[in-house]
Amino acid sequence: MTSLEAFNRIGPLRPREMSAHGGETPMTSGSTTNPASLPVAELLHVDKIYGQGEAQVKALDDLCLRVERGDYLAVMGTSGSGKSTAMNIIGCLDRPTAGTYRLNGVAVETLSDDQLADVRNRELGFVFQQFHLLPQLTASENVILPMIYAGIPPDQRRQRARQALERVGLGHRLDNRPNQLSGGQQQRVALARAIINQPALLLADEPTGALDSRTTEEVLAIFDDLNAQGITILLVTHEAEVGARAGRVVHFRDGRVAD
Ligand code: ADP
Ligand code: MG
Repeated sequence: MTSLEAFNRIGPLRPREMSAHGGETPMTSGSTTNPASLPVAELLHVDKIYGQGEAQVKALDDLCLRVERGDYLAVMGTSGSGKSTAMNIIGCLDRPTAGTYRLNGVAVETLSDDQLADVRNRELGFVFQQFHLLPQLTASENVILPMIYAGIPPDQRRQRARQALERVGLGHRLDNRPNQLSGGQQQRVALARAIINQPALLLADEPTGALDSRTTEEVLAIFDDLNAQGITILLVTHEAEVGARAGRVVHFRDGRVAD
């Protein structure tokens, strides 16, 4: 199963009622630590090995990485250096082979699949290169979907969706379907969807990879705004001008941080 299939199968749009722990967030239960003082995400000595025997690939090799609250961090590196693998683990779409991943202080490897799906919906927002909007739904309906699964009352959903779409400059495109929108506009809808449940961390894997330079600039301006408003961002890119917009850049090589 690819990570995208995992994303579509069990999250982030899984109804909260279906989660094994009755909707109680693992981020707060039984914890006395103030989450504001913790890194949002912390990878400690993470290995990821794909395949068996002769066909084994070590995609991550003793990777250590911290994302602090309010960070705007870009991960750069050549193709095959482990960027997407690291994003999939940080996004709780995949698990490390060895090592520890803590999200808001919770060791993710201790969570069940149901708890992971719940964490994805509650704590994480995702943006992908290919947008992954649902084609039969309008912009507003795409943004509403994660709110349904998060249990937001029906009478609040449309207004919140409109506010989120206004925040990304699409207040005039609420009722358009994805095929009536440009690539840059579709990515802005995906951004509105990603932030609608106020995630602790916004993850973006090559978010401008399918965009021309003008629409790349539109989307990067929104990342700047969101970060200025306090949203923590982790972005993967191989484009230097995209990485340069982030507050901090780390370079991956052979499954670990190079510098
Ligand atoms: P990047 O995103 O930096 O291009 P990836 O994380 O996609 O790198 O890949 C890191 C390494 O892991 C590469 O050698 C890639 O071929 C391998 N890899 C990635 N996903 C899989 C998979 N599902 N099965 C086997 N090998 C994989
Ligand atoms: Mg990749």
